[in-house]
Order: sequence, then structure tokens, then C-alpha cells
Amino acid sequence: MPAWEKNIRKVIPYTPGEQPSRPNMIKLNTNENPYPPSPAVTKALQELTPDSLRRYPDPGAEALVQALADYYKVSSQQVFAGVGSDDVLAMSFLAFFNSKKPILFPDITYSFYDVWADLFRIPYECPPLDEEFQIRTGDYLRECGGIVLPNPNAPTGLEKSLEELEKIIAANPEVIVIIDEAYIDFGGDSALLLLPKYENLLVVQTFSKSRSLAGMRIGYAIGNEKLIKYLNDAKYSFNSYTMSAAALAAGTAAVGDDTYFKETLQKIINTRERTKKELHRLGFSFPDSKSNFIFATHPKCPAGKLFEALKQADIYVRYFHKPRIDNYLRISIGTDAQMDELIRFLEHYLGESL
Ligand code: PMP
Repeated sequence: MPAWEKNIRKVIPYTPGEQPSRPNMIKLNTNENPYPPSPAVTKALQELTPDSLRRYPDPGAEALVQALADYYKVSSQQVFAGVGSDDVLAMSFLAFFNSKKPILFPDITYSFYDVWADLFRIPYECPPLDEEFQIRTGDYLRECGGIVLPNPNAPTGLEKSLEELEKIIAANPEVIVIIDEAYIDFGGDSALLLLPKYENLLVVQTFSKSRSLAGMRIGYAIGNEKLIKYLNDAKYSFNSYTMSAAALAAGTAAVGDDTYFKETLQKIINTRERTKKELHRLGFSFPDSKSNFIFATHPKCPAGKLFEALKQADIYVRYFHKPRIDNYLRISIGTDAQMDELIRFLEHYLGESL
């Protein structure tokens, strides 16, 4: 090892899902929305002028922040926007988790949390989910440096009730509790309802899934004005122009088209419920997902083997080679036609191989 290498900040990075792009593939591995963004988004992008690209974007993302504030009926000082919720969550870890006590998040959850904690040298502990993959409220009623919980959880898809979340938030007034609601629009109850009661609550959401804009990288946090100020202080100490002019225009237009948003969500929810029935019929079991994916296991076919077989058939799903979940596949909800094809493949494959 060269002498200089010992002074380098070494991190084990997060591994994103594969992003292959072949014409006929069925891509159900990164929880993208199978439908295009609202036509209003395409229009807003077409209307971008060369001048708006020549200039720096608005560092405060004001139009987008105001649109979100109006939509969620909060003040614009309660909204922080960033480059996908990954950026917003990373800023939140940096700004809010500054204690010597460990922060808490579940053992099975979004696998970026431990990466940020390691990067920022934040101590952490991971209370295990119970046998049914539920977050146990009691594990979070203790002294700690902060809490981050995704709701619904990923990759299980399970929602925790607001009453249970409230117990955790109320029991931890000395630290910040972040609820990561990347998948909340697919039928869950948002913790935004609890905001008027709790100053220590930060709700984080994204345009990547429910608003079909993963490629634009737009995420946001909503919390009390003081928390948002601290988040902005962290951001302006790092990079003032995080969001591009295109992202700001696209995001603002997306929030403006609520009819399209609700229609798209309903289609995905309907497809999810139909897919659950089909998977049950084929012998799969899975937690009852409230998200845009299903985390499924089959009693007779190892998940790793099925993952490879699906890949051979150009159907991509996500497989995590990790303790407790290495016999599960996370299957994103695609269009009805894509899910029909998946089910046809599974029917045939399980019929032949078992
Ligand atoms: N939180 C959770 C639980 C997720 O699954 C994801 C998607 N990978 C994110 C946050 C980040 O999404 P994005 O940065 O695209 O908003």
C-alpha cells in the first residue's frame, strides 16, 4: 500500500440495480414507474430556452418548492428539494445525525443507510425485523442519535401504521426521526399528517417512482422550518446548484398534473393487486406490499436460481445476496402486459423445473 493510501477515506459504496437497456427486455429490477411522466413534463422540457441552460439554475429551487408547498398545504419554508431522495437523505444524515450515540434503522431496509452512516462516520445499530419482516416499535423506544425508517419498508413493501410510527416519534423528542416515504404514494398513509405535532419529524419523498421521473433525479423533504433551514445550511456548504434547470421545470410541471398522477398510481395499484393473486396461485408467498414492488419467495424454487432463469428470458428483477432475504426476489410492478409475461414465464418455468 503506498504511504498516501492510508490517509484516504475508504468507503464501501452502495451497489445500484443493473441498468441494462435492450429493446424487448422486461425491466422490473429498480422500482421504476412503467408509465411515462405526465405530458405536462414533456411540454415543460420542450419549452426550456437556451438561455435557461446558459445560466445557473435557481439555487433555492423556488418554483418547485412552492409547487410542493401548495400541493401538501405547508409553507415554502418547510420544503427542501434535492437531486433525488438519495441526495436529500444524504444531506439529512450529514446535518441531523451528529451525535456520538448510534442512529437506528432496521437490519433489512434500504441498503444506502449504512453506506451514508459509514461515509459520515455516524455510529449505527440495526434492530432486526421480526419473523414476519415487521419493524418492532419497541426497538426504537430508546436513547439513540436519530432514527431513519422507510415507510413502506424496502425491500419488503410492508407499511407501518401511523399510530405505531407516532409512538416512535413521540418517544424520541431529542433526536430527528426521518421517515423515508419513497413508496408512500402507492397506497400508504403519509407521516405528513403528524408534522404539526412533531418538530423532530422529517418526511422524505421522491419523484422517481410515483411521478415517473427517476431519470430527472428529484426528491424533497418536508419538516418544520428550522429543520429545513439546517438542511439548506448543509446544502449551501456543499454545492449550491444541486438541481438542473431541466429537473426544476420537469418537477414543477409534474406536481401541476394531479389527475395524471392519480390515474397512474391507480393503474399500478390495480396491477399490483392482480399480480399478488397470480403469484399466490403459483405458490409464492410475500409480505402484503403497499409499494410498487412485491418481495416474493417460492417454497420449491431457490430465488437465486429463479433470478438467473428470469434474466436468461430477459426479465430483470432484483436479488439481494444477503442474510435472511437471499431466498426472495423483489419484483417491481410493470404494466399489465409485462406482468402477464412474467406470470406466463413463471408458470412455464415452475411447471417444468419442479
Ligand atoms: N429510499 C428508498 C427506500 C428507496 O428504495 C430509494 C430508491 N432506490 C430511494 C430512497 C432513493 O430514490 P431516489 O434517489 O431515486 O429518489
